[in-house]
Amino acid sequence: MSKEGKKFRSALYDVDPQKGVARLKNRLCPKCGRAMALHRHPVPRWHCGYCSYVEIVRS
Ligand SMILES: [Zn+2]
Repeated sequence: MSKEGKKFRSALYDVDPQKGVARLKNRLCPKCGRAMALHRHPVPRWHCGYCSYVEIVRS
């Protein structure tokens, strides 16, 4: 637990600053139905850690 991580938190995202990912509970994997993680680098994308499904975020 560190104070550094808390400033990244918001109502929508559950951010893990150590991994550099943010989990949005409403975003579920279309393949396995589990919660996906939002990776911002090198490009914004949703990634499923269970089945490796990836969806690029278009801005
Ligand atoms: Zn999946």
